[in-house]
Amino acid sequence: MAARLLTTQDVNWDLERAAFNILVDQQPAGIAVPRSADEVSDVVRSAAADGKRVAAQRTGHNAVPLGSLASTVLLRTAGLGGVQIDADAGSARVGGGALWDEVVPRASELGLAALHGSSPNIGIAGYTLGGGVGFYHRKHGLACNRVTAIELVTAGGEQIRVDAEHEPDLFWALRGGGGSFGVVTALEFDLLPLPEIFAGALLFPAEQASEVLHGWREWTAGMPEEMTSVGRLMNFPPVPEVPDPFRGKSFAVLEVIYCGDPADGEELMAPLRELGSAGTDTIQVQPPAGIADLHMDPQDPVPYTSESMLIRELPPAVIDSLLEAVGPGSGSRLVSVELRHGGGALSQAPYDAGALATLPGSFVTFAVGFVPVPEAMAPTRAWLGAFRASLEPYDAGRYFNFVEESFDIAQIFPPEVLDRLREVKQRYDPENLFHSNHPVTG
Ligand SMILES: Cc1cc2nc3c(=O)[nH]c(=O)nc-3n(C[C@H](O)[C@H](O)[C@H](O)COP(=O)(O)OP(=O)(O)OC[C@H]3O[C@@H](n4cnc5c(N)ncnc54)[C@H](O)[C@@H]3O)c2cc1C
Repeated sequence: MAARLLTTQDVNWDLERAAFNILVDQQPAGIAVPRSADEVSDVVRSAAADGKRVAAQRTGHNAVPLGSLASTVLLRTAGLGGVQIDADAGSARVGGGALWDEVVPRASELGLAALHGSSPNIGIAGYTLGGGVGFYHRKHGLACNRVTAIELVTAGGEQIRVDAEHEPDLFWALRGGGGSFGVVTALEFDLLPLPEIFAGALLFPAEQASEVLHGWREWTAGMPEEMTSVGRLMNFPPVPEVPDPFRGKSFAVLEVIYCGDPADGEELMAPLRELGSAGTDTIQVQPPAGIADLHMDPQDPVPYTSESMLIRELPPAVIDSLLEAVGPGSGSRLVSVELRHGGGALSQAPYDAGALATLPGSFVTFAVGFVPVPEAMAPTRAWLGAFRASLEPYDAGRYFNFVEESFDIAQIFPPEVLDRLREVKQRYDPENLFHSNHPVTG
C-alpha cells in the first residue's frame, strides 16, 4: 500500500498542514502520510526524484523555524505509531510518530518512568532528536542520551538501524543534533525504574511573586539532583478553556518533582510551603503518570510567540529585574515565564553521549505569550524582549528544543561538535534533502 498523498484539492489538506502554533501557515508542495517505514522510503525517493525536499513533522510544536515549504513535501509521521514496553529490560520501543502520552501512563503502570517533557502531546522523536529536558533531568540528564537505537530512512531511501556499534557517527549526530539526517521510523530508549515520585505544584497569589521566587531561588541551591523544580509567573488567559478558579488570574507558581525516596522529598520540600499562602497545593506521592499535566501546557493548538535562554546563574538581582520586566505590576500578559532549575546531570556529559552531551548554565528559561489577534503581537514581543533583557547579563546560550525561530546552531554547539555534525550531514545527506527546524548544513 502506498502512503497517503495530499494536494491542495484534498478535504484534509488544511487539517494535515496545521501546526501546533496556529500562527504558522504551512503551505508545502505536498503532504505525505506514510504508515510504515516502506512507505517513508517511497515518499523520500519520489520527493528526491521530483526535486523536492522532505520535512518530517509530527505535531508541529516547532514549526516556526521551518520557513517556506514551497519546495518541500511535508511528511506527517502520525501513522508511524506503535509503543512496546519491555518491563523486565526497563526499556521502550516506539514508532517515529509516537507521542509521550502513549508511553508515560503505560510505563507508569509498570513502575517505570520516561524522560518526557512538560507536554504529553509532544512527539517523542522530535523532542528526543533535539535533546529532551523533562522533569527528572537534574538526576538523569537529557532524554537523547538514554536512546539505545534508532531506525531511520536515509536520503537514499534506505532503511537503517543505528546504535553504538552500527553507524556510530550517525547515532551520535541524531542524539541532540536534530532532524537533519533522515526520517526516524522507530526509537528505543531506557526507562527509569520509578514507581513513585513526590511531586506537584504550589500556586501563590501573584502579589507574593517576589517572596516566592526569591525563596525558591535560595532553596534550589541546596537541593540534591533528585529534585527538579520550576519557578514561574503565570497569567491565565480569560478564555473558557481555562478552569474557573484560574481563568483570567495571575499566580506565582512552583513545580517540584522529587525522584528519590518520597519521604525525603516531603522533608526537602517543606520550606516551599512556608514561602507564602498557596491557594493551591497539589504536591503528593504519586505514580510518574500523575505529573503529565503538572505544567499545564495547552493540549490544543494555540496562537503564540516565545523566547528562551539558558542562564549561567540566578543571583537575587536577576529575580528583581525579571519581576520588574514581566512580573506583577509590569503590565505583562505573558501566559508563562518559567525558570527551570538545571545543572546536576544536565552539566555532566555521559561517557557515551550524543551530539548534545550537556546543557550549559544552571537554569533553563522559557517565556510565552498568546497572540489571539494580530494587534497582540507587538506588545507580546515587547514583553518577551523585556524578559530577555532582564536575563541577558547571565546568558549561557540557547537550548535546541526551546528555540522557536530560525537561528544558527553554531550558537549552541562548540566548533568541534558542529564540524562533526556537518561531516555526518555531508556523508548521509549531501544534497540537503531533509528540511528540519534547526538545520545542520554541510
Ligand atoms: C507547549 C510546549 C511544551 C514543550 N515542552 C518541552 C519540554 O518540556 N522539554 C523539551 O525539551 N522541549 C519541550 N518543548 C519543545 C519540543 O520538544 C520541540 O518543539 C520538539 O521539536 C517537538 O517535537 P515534535 O515532533 O512534537 O514537533 P514537530 O514540530 O513535529 O517536529 C520538530 C522537528 O523535529 C524533527 N522531527 C520530528 N519528528 C521526526 C521524525 N520522525 N524523523 C525525523 N525528524 C523528526 C524535525 O526536524 C522537525 O522539524 C515544548 C514545546 C511546546 C510548544
